[in-house]
Amino acid sequence: MDTDWPLSRDLVLVGGGHTHALVLRRWGMRPLPGARLTLIDPGACATYTGMLPGFVAGHYTLKDIEIDLVRLARFAGARIIFDRATGLDRGAKLVYLADRPPLRYDIASFDIGATAALSGVEGFEAHAHPVKPMGPFASAWQGFVEDRAARRGPAWCLVIGGGLAGVELALAMAHRLAQAEIAERRVTLVEAGNEILMPANAAMRRRLITACDELDVKIITGAQIVRIRQGAADLSDGRQIAANFTASAAGAHAYDWIARTGLSHTDGFIDVGPELRSLNDPNVFAAGDCAHLTHAPRPKAGVFAVREAPILWHNLRAALSGSALKDYHPQTDYLKLVSMGGKTAIGQKHAFALSGRRIWSQKDHIDRTFMARLSDLPAMPAPKPPAERALEERQDPLPETLCGGCGAKVGRTSLMMALKDIHPAIRSDTVRGRGDDSAVLRIGGQLQVFTTDHLRAFIGDPYVMGRITAIHALGDVWAMGALPQAALLSLVIPRMSNALQAATVAEITAAVSEVLRGAGADLVGGHSSMGHELTVGLSVTGLLAREPVGLAGARPGDTIVLTKPIGSGVILAAHMRGSARGEDVRQALGIMQRPLSAASQILAPCAHAMTDVTGFGLAGHLMNILEASGAAAEVSLSGIPLMTGAEQLSAQGVRSSIWQSNASLDERIGRPATPASDLLHDPQTAGGLLASVPETLLPDVLAQLSAAGETGWIIGRIVEGPPWITVI
Ligand SMILES: Cc1cc2nc3c(=O)[nH]c(=O)nc-3n(C[C@H](O)[C@H](O)[C@H](O)COP(=O)(O)OP(=O)(O)OC[C@H]3O[C@@H](n4cnc5c(N)ncnc54)[C@H](O)[C@@H]3O)c2cc1C
Repeated sequence: MDTDWPLSRDLVLVGGGHTHALVLRRWGMRPLPGARLTLIDPGACATYTGMLPGFVAGHYTLKDIEIDLVRLARFAGARIIFDRATGLDRGAKLVYLADRPPLRYDIASFDIGATAALSGVEGFEAHAHPVKPMGPFASAWQGFVEDRAARRGPAWCLVIGGGLAGVELALAMAHRLAQAEIAERRVTLVEAGNEILMPANAAMRRRLITACDELDVKIITGAQIVRIRQGAADLSDGRQIAANFTASAAGAHAYDWIARTGLSHTDGFIDVGPELRSLNDPNVFAAGDCAHLTHAPRPKAGVFAVREAPILWHNLRAALSGSALKDYHPQTDYLKLVSMGGKTAIGQKHAFALSGRRIWSQKDHIDRTFMARLSDLPAMPAPKPPAERALEERQDPLPETLCGGCGAKVGRTSLMMALKDIHPAIRSDTVRGRGDDSAVLRIGGQLQVFTTDHLRAFIGDPYVMGRITAIHALGDVWAMGALPQAALLSLVIPRMSNALQAATVAEITAAVSEVLRGAGADLVGGHSSMGHELTVGLSVTGLLAREPVGLAGARPGDTIVLTKPIGSGVILAAHMRGSARGEDVRQALGIMQRPLSAASQILAPCAHAMTDVTGFGLAGHLMNILEASGAAAEVSLSGIPLMTGAEQLSAQGVRSSIWQSNASLDERIGRPATPASDLLHDPQTAGGLLASVPETLLPDVLAQLSAAGETGWIIGRIVEGPPWITVI
């Protein structure tokens, strides 16, 4: 959230459908100063519909058909919230979300698609896969084919719905099962009407029915599915069909919560006029399948969602900036391209239809070009360095990009140098001063730990930043085995209107309170000021029921246990450069948001030494234990858990700002020169606990961690010797 012009309006995009994906791309190339853009979608990726049948048939990988919403949002300068909208308070202008407090908007735009779920059919939810939303469907299909191929088990597929999508899907499934050489395979298509392929012309229908014959797709018409069970489905005419993978492509139904928003709608689809604006709420826009074009009703097709994008982009900017809106006039017909299982396709426009391998190649070219528009994002010009500037130190160049989180921390060596002249504690109630994870103070007969941390925002979502900073700050308290007690929050908020400022502070406070409450602590006050970029900090106290677990005390023979995977630094560094994979970022943020309460309570009573892994990286924090304990360590590289994507980014040479400084520790480490071992210096934000556990207690500790839903990874052992780390 780094902006030169103060933010004054909130634009919230609900759903990362095709229209919004294209709006994000345009926004990145020409943002509107003063507008804060937010995207809400449960997934890090959206699935591109045009290539879904090709994926089902095995021509494309999952990666080929995924639109990376995280990268697009990053490019657009938008924050992405991984959640599902569940309602709208149009009076208070709030979007309700499934898993976090509601979000304010000035303008909200909907592109949430439709669903092919058949809620009225018994057993549907438990045993069937609606083709929309497409992401979960694609993963389920991949899992099914892999499972059948591995077990050599039967594959009985049932497709509900005999429209173009259903037939295309059935053909793709039949082709894939044949390619996978699954001996016992069957694909059945069931259509409630008396004919399939009603939107197609006669030539296209004939060709597609022949393709079904050739691939042995059995077609049943005039029958409805009434019940779906494990391994079978019951039809309205009494027939039973064996089916261990049931897919529904039976039309596009609106999500039922839309009808409860008070927005004017037709069968749950938001009524919009030519400006793609709601008929009864000027602050709401809608596009794609979830919109009903009242001025020119059209079937639900991706081609309209795509064509609406430039108009929606223009109109959202116009609504936010007070300029004139444009009208969208959909075309009357469009080129329908349907693949036929293998690399052949049929194309139809008006009365004409052509089929063959060339049509498939054309379709493939159109689809890949569309995907390239959303993945090959233009590099925006970086700000030029000043022509006249002070010289940099040759040995100490300035970082090219300043990371956020712990990647923006002052390096271990600089910090040690700066702190070496600080005078020792003068008070007798300061039991431990600097040098450990937290200070320890004696108050009456009670020992209290006291620590502080702040993070520069590395993502534009104040709520998630609040959660991560709270967990990060509490890490020092948990590492000493204390129970969190109270916290003060300090905030630097970028310039923005009063309304946005209030909402931003409220989001952070809600997130921080939520984490503190979960840890048994209170938020008791704080301080805020305005500054260039969002920074969240906490000072935290905790109470000790026993002697604190510190850095000193690790003994030869102890096992080294780590409670979270590493790699957040490299993933966040890549994210800030716009090159991280969205799903990796989503997973990393999820890991960072996991509290350490349970792990701390299990490890603290038995660990000889413990710390939390943060800015100095795994090696730096382990070295802190070794220095304080006068011991060495042997670490097994293969035992260290890595976040998904971290090793690949490390191999590409991506490094966090303070990696180089952390790596100066290499003079006391023997390690192979590999991308995985480079991650030993990767700075972690809200990282896991690193504990030195006596070998005899290890089985019990691991069992307790597992029972509490935590994982303890054994990464090495403490050995005799001066502080040194041997990595094998
Ligand atoms: C097999 C198949 C093949 C098809 N082939 C074609 C074709 O060749 N040409 C064509 O024009 N059309 C085709 N279609 C139709 C096409 O899929 C849709 O018209 C198109 O996907 C609509 O895009 P959209 O932008 O409305 O939303 P979608 O692409 O459906 O995306 C909706 C997004 O909203 C998110 N979302 C859903 N609910 C919420 C919520 N509550 N809160 C936040 N986010 C939410 C979802 O996660 C998703 O990312 C095909 C359909 C199928 C099933």
